Amino acid sequence: MPGTPQAADAVEYIRAQMKRAGLEPGYHGRWIQDVPLVTLTPATSPVLEVTSDHGSLRLNQGSDVVVWTKTPKSLVSLHDSEMVFVGYGIVAPDAGWDDYKGADVRGKTVVMLVNDPDWQSSDSTGPFGGKRLSYYGRYTYKFEEAARHGANAALIIHRTDAAGYPFKVLVNTNAGPKVQIDDPSDPKDHASVEGWISQSSAKDVFDLAGLDLEAQMSNAGTREFHPVPMQLHASVTLKNTISKFKSENVVGILPGQSDPSEAFFFSAHWDHLGTCEPASLGHRICNGAVDNASGVAGVLSLARSFASSPKLRRSVLFIAFTGEEQGLLGSAYYVKHPALPLSDTVGGINIDVMNVFGPTNDVMILHPGLTTLEAPFIATATKQGRKLSPDAFPEQGLYYRSDQLSFARAGVPTLFASSGFQRRTTSNTGMTLAYYFQHVYHTPADTFDPNWDWTGAIEDLEVYRAVGRAFASGGERPTWLPGSEFGFPNSTRKPVTDVHKDLLPNL
Ligand SMILES: [Zn+2]
Repeated sequence: MPGTPQAADAVEYIRAQMKRAGLEPGYHGRWIQDVPLVTLTPATSPVLEVTSDHGSLRLNQGSDVVVWTKTPKSLVSLHDSEMVFVGYGIVAPDAGWDDYKGADVRGKTVVMLVNDPDWQSSDSTGPFGGKRLSYYGRYTYKFEEAARHGANAALIIHRTDAAGYPFKVLVNTNAGPKVQIDDPSDPKDHASVEGWISQSSAKDVFDLAGLDLEAQMSNAGTREFHPVPMQLHASVTLKNTISKFKSENVVGILPGQSDPSEAFFFSAHWDHLGTCEPASLGHRICNGAVDNASGVAGVLSLARSFASSPKLRRSVLFIAFTGEEQGLLGSAYYVKHPALPLSDTVGGINIDVMNVFGPTNDVMILHPGLTTLEAPFIATATKQGRKLSPDAFPEQGLYYRSDQLSFARAGVPTLFASSGFQRRTTSNTGMTLAYYFQHVYHTPADTFDPNWDWTGAIEDLEVYRAVGRAFASGGERPTWLPGSEFGFPNSTRKPVTDVHKDLLPNL
């Protein structure tokens, strides 16, 4: 957990291992990139007041709404802010979709729906990839888009089926202290107030506005949708105590032979949750042995392998990020303050959770179809005799839930992949990757087991090494594939630079 004495031990261990592997300090001559963080702890339980000419509603934190601020000030308030319903809150030039239609929502409170317009589709076709979660459907994107439009507050209407989790998960995740980057150069890229409103409270709000929520929802599912002024006003006061601290990214480099300013990177987050539930396992300490000590071990072994081979044309960066679990914080800070210019960071592979449960006959690319990193990945796995299986969790948007997202949003092509689920042998530990994700992930049971079988992890690392070697030694750069959400080939969309805490927990 960032900011603890144990975190300092982990950082020092990784630094020492990188040095021992033969890397050089990678962050402007240092091993460590300091990441300034700030914790905002709610001092009171806020009440969101919604008023109209005919009446008012008081929406309570925890039961009706969950609202927060990311502005590191002890007092943030919203006073009589005009409310506007903006459908799904999506502006997607690549999909020919614009829910804002040029409406001026500066200083206002935008209210929007969770997920994207074709989320109920049974397959993966449609303007937003059907049931596959698109980045436009992710709540982080909606908050960013609202901020880009100058909204003062942004509220998403919850629906368990569309969100994939009940409202209480949102409350648990968002009502408590929030850690974020404390960066004075940070542009204002989130609304002062963000939050979620329960579906039943949303119905009350729409009733107060004289609007039919169901009708508005179906209206929002069309390209013709126009923002709806609700003739309502929102007010809320948020009080927080502010506490600043710092954590560390660890960065090692193997300088390139002829193009040292260009780099390929491998990364993994070193942080985990500290403590978590359930306590029934006898303790609440979350070691995160698989998530993500295994990934850090993978990056360190790649470092040893690359360091013991001849120098390549481009540099290779090895990065262990902090604060991933708290919102991809270390990687978000890194892309704003990179070791080498991001324009020359040609691509990379992020590792989050290695398969230590034995070899498989298949591999998975999470969110396939994004970049040209995938072709050598598939070719190398095929040479190993492994098949490519489809992303097992397209609706969960795993690609958006670890540090590769920070790079993708900054325009750097990144690959996120894994062993598949087709086992080649019986697990030594009785555990499988699928079982791990269902029952062990983010619980105190994620501890080291000496019986782990690293064969599958090693095969995955061999594939990552081949991809990294191809792009670190060749002249070609990885690129985004046409139609991927992050290439923005014909769009005026600015790359987004802030990362909001992920709701489905980060991997
Ligand atoms: Zn993780």
